[in-house]
Amino acid sequence: MCGIVAYVGSKPVAPVLIEGLKRLEYRGYDSAGVAVAPGPDQGVVVGRSVGRVSVLESLVDKDPDRYEGCLGIAHTRWATHGAVTEHNAHPHTGRTRCGHTVALVHNGIIENYATLRKYLESKGHDFYSETDTEVLCKLIAELYDGDLEAAAQKALQEVTGAYALAVICDREPHTLVAARKGSPLIIGIADNAYVVASDQSAIVAHTTQVIHLNDYQVARLCAGPLDKHKDPPAPWAVDFRTTTLENEIVSQEITELEMDLQQIELAGYEHYMLKEIMEQPEAIRTCLRGRIDQREGRVVLGGLNGLARDLVRAKRFIMTGQGTAYHAGIIGEYLMEDVAKVPARAAYASEFRYRNPIIEDGSVIVAISQSGETADTLAALHEAKERGALALGAVNVVGSTISRETDAGVYLRVGPEIGVASTKAFLGQVAVLTLMALYVGKRKYLSTTDAASYLAEFARVPDHIAKIVEHSDQIRDCVKQVVDRNNWLFLGRGYNYPVALEGALKLKELSYIHAEGMPAAEMKHGPIALIDEGMPVVFVATQGSQYDKVISNIEEVKARGGRILAVATEGDSHITRYCEDGFVFFVPHVPEPLQPLLTVVPLQLLAYHAAVIRGHDVDKPRNLAKSVTVE
Ligand code: GLU
Repeated sequence: MCGIVAYVGSKPVAPVLIEGLKRLEYRGYDSAGVAVAPGPDQGVVVGRSVGRVSVLESLVDKDPDRYEGCLGIAHTRWATHGAVTEHNAHPHTGRTRCGHTVALVHNGIIENYATLRKYLESKGHDFYSETDTEVLCKLIAELYDGDLEAAAQKALQEVTGAYALAVICDREPHTLVAARKGSPLIIGIADNAYVVASDQSAIVAHTTQVIHLNDYQVARLCAGPLDKHKDPPAPWAVDFRTTTLENEIVSQEITELEMDLQQIELAGYEHYMLKEIMEQPEAIRTCLRGRIDQREGRVVLGGLNGLARDLVRAKRFIMTGQGTAYHAGIIGEYLMEDVAKVPARAAYASEFRYRNPIIEDGSVIVAISQSGETADTLAALHEAKERGALALGAVNVVGSTISRETDAGVYLRVGPEIGVASTKAFLGQVAVLTLMALYVGKRKYLSTTDAASYLAEFARVPDHIAKIVEHSDQIRDCVKQVVDRNNWLFLGRGYNYPVALEGALKLKELSYIHAEGMPAAEMKHGPIALIDEGMPVVFVATQGSQYDKVISNIEEVKARGGRILAVATEGDSHITRYCEDGFVFFVPHVPEPLQPLLTVVPLQLLAYHAAVIRGHDVDKPRNLAKSVTVE
């Protein structure tokens, strides 16, 4: 959600900032801005605009001399406090008592902003925006006494809420201060420079050496000529330190980013989403690599080393997440009960966190998140840990907050996901939860033969996915015929019920068509009233224990004039009698617990094509953010 890029170093800052903002565009935002400090005591130059980064870029390009400097901050805003206007866009500014300018960019929410605003108004500050961020900026300016780091530390002691921020002051034109609490922030250590960003994709072009800032930590990053009066100029000196809000030094581990630039390029595809759907065979292959020992029927999960006994004794698994990750969690719930025979339940993190949950002895919470930064999921994780649960993570981004705050975990290893609507990360989450269930199951009830046969089937899943994505054109041709309808149903039973939920969510997110997903049996308890002539109803109807029941549900829809689209098992000639030509999307046969890994793929393609045909921006759907870092 929203983005921060900040830079201090030897290069001209404006192009670095604009390029960084472009890398963050996929996260979803509504306005953008930059601030540059041209030099000592020369004020701060600010440019802001509503809409795309390209609008901001032309603003900066029109007047490049204005934005000259080696220190700057930039932001893409996803409004929480105040409308989407130029005035509310970041960076925000404030005047210090000694007449200098402080400029700040911020992700998150300052909860006590109203009280702080009143206090600052009483001190003579005038406010031009409706944001909570301007309040934080002016508080730092108010407390500034010649030392930006100290002012930030003091201000943040007064603040409740969540933040990642970068702040500069024209009095200190070689110093960048950054801080975080509850919202991600990464510091890249480059040659003669520091780059701060809320997301690694804005850093990787400069360096792979990074520091992950922790909550309540402040970083002071300095980069400048050793002696600016020398001719020729003296070499650059760089220096950083991280402290607590109380100014105690904290030592930081420098880690290597597991990402390269190529992974975040389009590679010839029209959209990231299509690229990511097509990449799924390879993504799942990488996810499974080294984790399956077919001969022994064993799952090898290095991340869970040392916890096998706790997991075997676990009395309950709680799968938690939001959106797509929650749907993966429901599949995880079914898998844990069916394959590992341990009671499990999936819960929306946002609901779980606030309902005073009962955590019995032997509870394990699994926090599921692509980014590893989802605020709701983090809050649920904290709550469950506090109540004694063992905490596991299933996240994609290495080094992310959830990965650091869980007791152990399994990375998805599907590579960076840029498309806002999750596809390959969902598949990765389901794959990891399947591995976890087999890991526990094998240590409890599953015989070596049964486990080995699951694993042999599992190892073939990437090839099956490769076959399914070849049907993209067929799916597009089918969608063309129904895409004008504004109400859809997605139905499935058992493992395919959460797949139906996910199919409906994808369609909503991308094409803005209203779609509902539900258990196929639930339809007749009410939603059947919606079905009229030509309403598209998508059945996930693969062969398995509930196939005949699903066919009865198809009959019920057909009898009321609904138009059936179906995901079915290859070779099922029976189902074609309910559907028009080209309206059945076939997937290879696999055991039921593995079916979601295949059945969701045609639904991803369906949503993709529907959005493209309707002319929507697939990679940046309206109002959505890639990783939701506010509760
Ligand atoms: N709460 C701030 C605002 O509404 C920050 C929003 C963001 O995270 O982009 O401006």
